[in-house]
Amino acid sequence: MMKTANKTVTATRLVKDALAKVKHFEDYNIFTFINEEGALKKAAEIDAKIARGEKVGRLAGVPYALKDNFLSPEGETTASAHILEGFSSPVTATAVAKLEAEGAIMIGRTNMDAFAHGSSTENSYFGPTRNAFDKERVAGGSSGGSAVAVALDIVEFATGTDTGGSIRQPASFNGVYGLKPTYGTISRYGVVAMASSTDCIGFFTKTPDDMNLLMEITAGQDPKDMTTLPDYYKESTPKESSLRIGIIKDFDNESVDIEIRKALKKKCEELKAKGHEIVELEMPALKYALAAYYIIVPAEIASNLSRYDGIRYGFRAGDSQDLNALYKNTRSEGFMPENKRRIMIGNFVLSSGFYDAYFLKAAKARTLIVKEYADAFSKCDFILTPVSPNPAFKLGEKVGDPVAMYLEDMMSVSLNLAGVPGLAIPAGKTKDGLALGLQLVGPRRSDKALIEFSKELI
Ligand code: GLN
Repeated sequence: MMKTANKTVTATRLVKDALAKVKHFEDYNIFTFINEEGALKKAAEIDAKIARGEKVGRLAGVPYALKDNFLSPEGETTASAHILEGFSSPVTATAVAKLEAEGAIMIGRTNMDAFAHGSSTENSYFGPTRNAFDKERVAGGSSGGSAVAVALDIVEFATGTDTGGSIRQPASFNGVYGLKPTYGTISRYGVVAMASSTDCIGFFTKTPDDMNLLMEITAGQDPKDMTTLPDYYKESTPKESSLRIGIIKDFDNESVDIEIRKALKKKCEELKAKGHEIVELEMPALKYALAAYYIIVPAEIASNLSRYDGIRYGFRAGDSQDLNALYKNTRSEGFMPENKRRIMIGNFVLSSGFYDAYFLKAAKARTLIVKEYADAFSKCDFILTPVSPNPAFKLGEKVGDPVAMYLEDMMSVSLNLAGVPGLAIPAGKTKDGLALGLQLVGPRRSDKALIEFSKELI
């Protein structure tokens, strides 16, 4: 359970402790902004309320870290991209407003791949974040800063976004819990858009109970986000005690690190010993998930990033002769290479000459994947699979090879295409001391039961 403030342990004490840890772990490059003044001010307000005997929220005085793509007025929201430098948000994301209404205190914004494009946090304008267990290795991405902030106990929870794995993969690289909820569970209002049909808001925590509490606070319909679902979360009922757990046969091959495969087998044995049944699944459409994802997502990125023109937000390149040159110079200087790659791929697959060959095909593959998950969940209650094919890799190892980086996502992206929830859970360590993670996958709206069930695997 998260430590909340009371008369003896004040919010100010909790915030000061967290800020001291921020300083201590400075060389991991976790934060893009430290909210020292704002956090202490909020803590003092909460302490005053407690002293007056007033009611405080369920997260009173709990320090947390905010991924740099959530809008809030403190500091600049840059999505770790040069093109948003200097942008102070006039609005607050719904998720942030809900957390803060319960008394949570944001102590800093966390580093990420610029615009959440990436799997290692190396695409950040501010440089990479380091892995919590090995400083020479990547934090995972795109929510690398948030995952490491929780793994190193700087904060008890951090926010993330998951468009194709950006919560689950860094969670598994750093040995913490990371939830990508059912699409539409938490409002995306006030979060920098990557791919609107797969973007999900979620969290990193140390325990399933903390995850459940954060979901209870933030899930629900929001008039400002038309894709939010009616509030199902609190009402959902836990599953029966003995369950059928699906294992995807297609993923048990040489492209998956042997230690990850062993961790999966071990967890299956533990589940069997607890009376659950293991069901083998064939899911042949999943092999198209990565290709479909890297067509659909860039198409949506190209559209979502078209708003960054040097006029409305953040950075503007100097010395432009006319308006077109201003757009061109701002976008050329402001975006990272990976952002530009996706804008180009996206516009290409949407162009009239290639739409049928690429975008339409990918959309059809997506439908097959949705059906395949629906089928799978008629044969089992949950699925247990790896999150990624390997544990954290070395800094610099893949950043120059976009395809190698994209392959990192082969086990995570299908959930986003299907809109189903996935919870990354810690699953031990490699012999070199790196974190291993697995993910539990459930049908849409099974999020609460999924979190509850993960306790079987502790
Ligand atoms: N690594 C994936 C990508 O680069 C997922 C990113 C994300 O979920 N934001 O697209």
